[in-house]
Formats: sequence, C-alpha cells, structure tokens
Amino acid sequence: MTDTAAPTADRAHKAAKRYIYAFGGGRGEGDATMRDVLGGKGAGLAEMTNAGLPVPPGFTITTEACNDYFAAGEKLPEGLWDDVLEAVRKVEQDTGKGYGNAHNPLLVSVRSGARFSMPGMMDTVLNLGLNEETLNGLIALTGNERFGWDAYRRFIQMFGRIVMGVEAHRFDEAWEQAKAQRGADDDTDLDAAALREVAGEFRQIVRQDTGRDFPSDPIEQLDLAIKAVFASWFGKRARDYRDNQKIAHDLGTAVNVMTMVFGNMGDDSGTGVAFTRDPNTGQKVLFGEYLTNAQGEDVVAGIRTPLHISDMRDRMPEIYSQFEEIAGRLERHYRDMQDLEFTIERGKLYMLQTRSGKRTAAAAVRIAADMVKDGIITEQEALARIEPAHVDQLLRDQFDPRAKETAARITAGLNASPGAAVGKAVFNADRAFEMANQGEKVILVRIETSPDDFHGMAAAQGVLTARGGATSHAAVVARQIGKPCVAGCASLVIDYGSRSAKVNGLGFSEGEWISLDGTTGEVYVGALPTVEVRFEDQAELQKILEWADRARRLQVWTNADKPEEAAMARRYGAQGIGLCRTEHMFREGERLDIVRDAILVAFQATRAKERREAGEALSAEDQDVVRRFDDALGKLEALQETDFEGIFEAMDGLPVVIRLIDPPLHEFLPNHGDLLVEVTQMEAAGTSTDDPKFAQARELLRAVEALREQNPMLGLRGCRLGLMIPDFVKLQTRAILNAATKRRKAGGDPHAEIMIPLVGHVNELKATRDLLEAEARKVEEAAGVEVDYKFGTMIEVPRGALTADEIAEHAEFFSFGTNDLTQMAFGFSRDDAEGGFLLNYVERGILPDNPFQTLDVEGVGQLVRTAVEKGRAARPNLKLGICGEHGGDPASIAFFDEVGLDYVSCSPFRVPVARLAAAQAALTGAAERDK
Ligand code: ADP
Ligand code: MG
Ligand code: MG
Repeated sequence: MTDTAAPTADRAHKAAKRYIYAFGGGRGEGDATMRDVLGGKGAGLAEMTNAGLPVPPGFTITTEACNDYFAAGEKLPEGLWDDVLEAVRKVEQDTGKGYGNAHNPLLVSVRSGARFSMPGMMDTVLNLGLNEETLNGLIALTGNERFGWDAYRRFIQMFGRIVMGVEAHRFDEAWEQAKAQRGADDDTDLDAAALREVAGEFRQIVRQDTGRDFPSDPIEQLDLAIKAVFASWFGKRARDYRDNQKIAHDLGTAVNVMTMVFGNMGDDSGTGVAFTRDPNTGQKVLFGEYLTNAQGEDVVAGIRTPLHISDMRDRMPEIYSQFEEIAGRLERHYRDMQDLEFTIERGKLYMLQTRSGKRTAAAAVRIAADMVKDGIITEQEALARIEPAHVDQLLRDQFDPRAKETAARITAGLNASPGAAVGKAVFNADRAFEMANQGEKVILVRIETSPDDFHGMAAAQGVLTARGGATSHAAVVARQIGKPCVAGCASLVIDYGSRSAKVNGLGFSEGEWISLDGTTGEVYVGALPTVEVRFEDQAELQKILEWADRARRLQVWTNADKPEEAAMARRYGAQGIGLCRTEHMFREGERLDIVRDAILVAFQATRAKERREAGEALSAEDQDVVRRFDDALGKLEALQETDFEGIFEAMDGLPVVIRLIDPPLHEFLPNHGDLLVEVTQMEAAGTSTDDPKFAQARELLRAVEALREQNPMLGLRGCRLGLMIPDFVKLQTRAILNAATKRRKAGGDPHAEIMIPLVGHVNELKATRDLLEAEARKVEEAAGVEVDYKFGTMIEVPRGALTADEIAEHAEFFSFGTNDLTQMAFGFSRDDAEGGFLLNYVERGILPDNPFQTLDVEGVGQLVRTAVEKGRAARPNLKLGICGEHGGDPASIAFFDEVGLDYVSCSPFRVPVARLAAAQAALTGAAERDK
C-alpha cells in the first residue's frame, strides 16, 4: 500500500486524505518522484507541466483512492467526489471552458495509470462530456459538423465498450453495415448525416445490450468512467499481467482526467508517438510516426499508414523543431530514453505522455553504453538499466535482419521465450518427437500445450501456440528449457484434423518450413537464415560486463563437463568450474560398455576383494570376477585421466571442482522393461542359453533387477555409492590427481577440488575422505611433484545443511546442490513435479515460482543460510559456492550474494547473465545498507 502523500499544495479538499493532484496553468501539484501515488502517467504529466511543457490541463486521482475504494466495498471514499468536482472547476478555469457547457464545452479523457506501465489493462476513454447539446456547441465552435458527429460516435463506441461492457463486435458490425449500405470504402467516406445515424444506432445497441440508456449527463459519465478505471485494476488481464511480472496486487491504479485536444481538426492537426532514440538499435535519432488530421487511436489501429516522424520536419518545420527540443529536454531530464505521445491541435503542440521507453536487448546495451560515454549516467546506473534477460537474448541466435525484411511474415503473437527457431511445422507432440529423432528440425504448433506435450517441446526447435499468455504452459516450459516460443497467436486457426494452420488467408501444413522469432513474437513461412551471434563481437556488451565485474563481489564459475564447454565458459568470463560431472563422461561411445561391464560385477568383486584382504583365498570364479572388474576400471581410469587433463588445460590457473560419481547405477544400464521384453521374446523363441546375446541380456536383466530401487533418487547414489564400492571413487581420485600431475609437469597450473556428493552425516564424509586421502598421497608420492588439491562436499541433503558445522570440520569447501536440496526440502521428486502438478501450483498461486528455477528463499534459503553460518563458524576460511541451476537465476543470485557465498556456478551460456546479476545484487545490497 502507498502512504498518504503529504499535500504539496494546500488547495482545499473535502476528503480526509489528499486524493487529487492537479496539473495546469504551468504548475503541477505533484511531480516525478510521486509515481507510487500518481502512477507513471500522472507523475509524468505533473513533471512535464512543472517543466513548462505544453500539457493539456487536468488532474490525477491517486492510487490510494483506488485502494480505499476497494477497501470500502467499491465505494468512493467520503468527500472524494466533491474534490473531483472541485478539480473539474479548476480545469474549467485553466481552459476557459465549461464541463457540460453547451456553448463552450470542455471535453476530457479518462486514462488509467499505475506505478508500472501495464499494457492492455484498461483502454483510455476519450471525449467525455459529449451529449447532443454539447455536441452542438462543439460543432458551432469548430464549424465542422462531420468532426463533431465523428467524435460523438467514437465516444459512444469507446464508452459503451470500455465502461459499459458492450462487446466490441456489436459496434464494429453496425459500423461495417453502415459503410456497406452507403457504398463507402473508407471510414472517411461517411458524411455528417451518416455519422449522425450511426451514433443513433450505437445508442440503440447500448440500450439493447445493457438495458439502460447511454448516459447523457457529463457528470454521470465521469463517475462511471472513474469507477471503471478502478475496476480494471482487478480485471483478469491486469491480474494475469501482474502475476507474470511479479507486480504486487495492492498497488492500485491512478486515474488521469485531462482536457481533450484534437488532432483531427484538419491538416494543421495531427497526433503521433516517438522515442527519443531508436528502440530497436539504440541509435541516437528521433524514432516514431505520426498522422495528420487524426486522433491517437488511428495511429495504433492502422486504419491509415502513419508517416515517419522525420516527415514532420518538412510538413510542419516549426512544430518539429519544438518537438525535437522537448524530446531532448525530457531525455536529459529523466536521463533515459523516453517514449512520448503528442497531439497537434490547429498548429499547437501538446504533450500527452512521457515514460521510459521499452527497448530491445541490443538497444538497451547501446543506450546504456552511449549514455555513460556522454556523461549522462554513471556505470552503476547503466548496470541497473540492463535486464539480465537482455544479456540472455544477445547470446541467442537471431534471424538475419536483412532476410526478415523480405520474408513472408504471416502473423505475430506474444514473444514468450526469446531466440530464433526454424523447423518443419508439426501439430502433434509424438510426431514432433519422432521426426526430431530422425534428425529433422521441427516446430511444434499447438492450440495450447499441456504437460503431455513436453517431450515434443523438448525435441522441437521452438513452440508456437494459438492460445495462452505469458504464463501459459507453453511459455513457462519453453523459457525453462531455453526454446524460442511464440504464444497466444490468436489469429492462427489450427486444425489438428487436416494438420494445418491458417491465418489471414495464408497458411501452412505439416512438414512445411516455418520460422519463429521468439524475441519479437513474429511468425514467418519458410526457413529464414539465422545468424549466430558471437559474444566476442559485441563490444558494448563486453564493456558493460567489465563494469559489472568491477561492481560485483560474487565470483561466477561454470558447470562444464568437457574441455570445449570449459573453454567457451572461460571466454564468457567464468572464473572456475564449480561442477564437473564425471559421470557424463561415462556415457560416451565405448565407455558405456566398459562402465556396464564394471557395474555387472561391481558388488561381487568388491566383496571378493574384502575377503582377499582379510586373508581368504578366492575361488576361481571370484578371481575371474575381480579380474573383469579391475580390467574395466583400469580402462576407465585411463580414459578419465585424459578427460581431466583436457579440463585442467582449458581452465589453467583456475579452480576446477570435480564431483565424484553421483547418480544411481541403474542410470547406466538399459531400461528394465525393455530388457524384460527382450529376454522373454528370446525365451519364447527357444533361444539356446549358449547364445552370447541371450546370455548377455539375461545377465543385464539380473543386474538391473538387483539394482532396482523404489526411490532411486533417495537410494544408493552419491557418497553412498563410493562407500559401498570404493574402487569407483578411488579410481576417480587417482585419475584427477594423475591428470593434475601431468599438467604440472608440462608447466601447467591445475587446481583440483574433489567434491563428495550427497553427504547427510559427517561420518559419510569422514569415511570417504579417509579413503581418498590415502589414495591421493600414494599418487603424490609416486609422482614426486606436489599438486594443489582440496577435498570438499556438496550440501544438498537437509541434514547436511543442519549439521554443517560438523561437516565443515572435514571439508575445505561447500557447494550447495540446490536442485537436490529443493527436492528434499519440499519432498518433491523433481521430474514428477515439473512434469505434473508444479505448473498448476504456480498457475494457482500456491507457489509463487517454480522452486527449481528461482530459489525458495523462505524455506530452502534458510537451509543455505544456516549451513553458511554454521560452516563458517567451524572453519572461517571455508570456501562457499552453489552449483545448482539457481546459480544462473538473477533473483536467486541476489540471495546468494546476500548470504555471502563466494561464487555461483552456472551453465556456460548463463555466465554473462550471472556476471550482470551479481553486479546488480551487489549494487542494490550496497544501496540498501546505505539507507
Ligand atoms: P495507454 O496507456 O494505453 O497509452 P493513454 O491514456 O496514453 O493510454 O491514451 C491512449 C491515447 O489516447 C493517447 O496516445 C492519445 O492519443 C489519446 N489521448 C488520451 N488522452 C487524450 C487527450 N486528453 N487528448 C487527446 N488525446 C488523448
Ligand atoms: Mg499512452
Ligand atoms: Mg545432487
């Protein structure tokens, strides 16, 4: 809730609070600092008025009035209406006109305006104050009957739709009919008499659909319109938008009532919108369009093609230079690119709105860099102005801009997840999955998606839907898995039966190429060429990230399993590897067979070795098993050593955290169901038991059955695995240290950090570490050189977090595994939850976010905080990092900065995003501490 604003001017008011701030006569009672109370639009109008700019007089009803209106059960607070009438009287004085006066009528617009701009929340109503009497006055004053009737029919249409809830198509149909009856092609072909008849029909429609007459009393019009703006705050569109943008629901909206100015009074009138810089490229030129002899909505509705703003220089040179001067002043005043609305009435320029302009990622970066260069803003301010999502966008492939100019754009929807996607249209998730498996590039096209479509979405290049907004399943999932997505393409008519889609007379069928621009929401037929964007080529982005590096406290490391990934992350600015998952190396090519071979005999061989150590003699079978096991492990060790050498080389001089084997063993074996079918079929076919394929299948099936667990993610995995089969982790430790030794001898500078996963009890860590340290010493002695290595653990089991002080005694570093920690703290199985109920939870507001995407600060975050505090208390120089997916999420990064971690580690592509987010966290943290 907003606080009651202190009255800045002592104009009398009847209500208990100051609800109204006027602007006009060169003076605004509010100013730019009052966005909370006046909304963005109202604050801008007051500020422009104070700066002496030509703003039509009016007043703003505060957001607090809106909140009090709802608190009182949708009743205007006592006294507010008197204050509204008083404010109208002031506008009458400022303009010399009278509201409802038949001879010299004042007309007003009623505009919503919240703290944050909320596109599509409520449309503006223009021309309030019109009725048949004031209309006559307007016609007499302007000498233009057609203009008067056109204003009137527009007013009934707008007010009827927005305030009285009549469906838009009712007016549209009557309008088209009126044109058809008179053989009119364009709206402008209808004359005054025709418009007068249309106005009568429109009023008739209002009567039929609402059961009441269109209000002719200007005072009643104002009352209804103000309440409609208030009501729009809790409209569905507004609510959905706020949910998606994480805007609080209790901010309320302000209402702006202001004098109408008319851009449709002839060729010396006009209206337009302009940005002070090009919002696509960031270039420093006035960018925008305008129409002569038109009202604001004509520009948007596309009835006539607007002219480029530069044409105004030739057609209205004086107005143009005045506008250019005002634009420059506003940009310098707000120290940011502005988005301006203006209207020219009979050769006089009026400013109707100023706000910070929305911009593309490229423009955001360029504008910020240019403004620092020109001394307009500081490096820190520049950092605050760039959204982490902008950085993400700049690293994704884009369509070749030249190709886009000539491409066949068929429609546009919501830009739900950025990036360029090209593929063959497919209308069914199973088909998409199959075709992708055959190496085809596909785009999944659905009316809307559901969790059943996930496999198709994951296999596709991109996703296109006809229904659903920014929080729809398609949008949320696409962003999460990093696929471009255009959602809610309402004009697209999809027919699953014929596997085709139509839009505006064009269309495409299954198998035809289409291209999606998830950054802009555009859809094209055909395969557009993409350009790979190179980080190295983006000088302005690099500069901004250098500033970020100076501002941030957190280091940014990366999760990388291969030397190529590590090298890429390093180019992106990674300062170490926070998670190298060794088991990913187990899956490639011949390795999987070796690993399987080891797993098949792992338990038997391990028990046999224990007995041998105890002095027992081994049976021939046991000896054979041990040989087979050692043989497989020997091969693996050699392969892993080469892998690690590559990684140490790529990360020379930087720390590399290598996690020992973590997943349950069944993940390396074939699927149980498939094996069962295979063995049963061979049995049924009478296959001889000597058949080697049959024997192998039966052996695999036996092993898979022996390893089967009810809850594998809570079963034999992580450090538990190493404690049951020590050879697995011993070989990994040797491979790491031998690789480091080799690099050392070759003049390299490797830094190994060996990470033991899934520790819940200190004894697990102690036992593992004893085992591995003995192994490490052996390697060192044999090598004769010292290498730098540490032992540490992951904190990812809640018990581990709660007993972090005990654990820290035996760990030189902690890395928070926030994926597992979230699973175990919530008791969610991630795969089941994300594929199932979790999205529903988020849609219904049961959870604010997907906790696997944005860290749950209140719950999981407390475990992290506790572990940090206890860990550091036991070992002050304990190194702390996080390697879960949250390491690349800006909101989570802010929390990790606050609790004092040393680094976040994220996927290579997220490294630049994390560098910016870490800087923003440090800057806001510092600002908060200064308060
Ligand atoms: P939005 O927030 O959707 O941009 P606005 O309140 O800015 O809505 O109104 C939309 C358009 O209506 C403006 O761009 C302008 O063209 C027109 N408009 C609003 N108020 C007035 C007015 N007092 N005089 C003339 N045109 C107006
Ligand atoms: Mg506007
Ligand atoms: Mg884990």
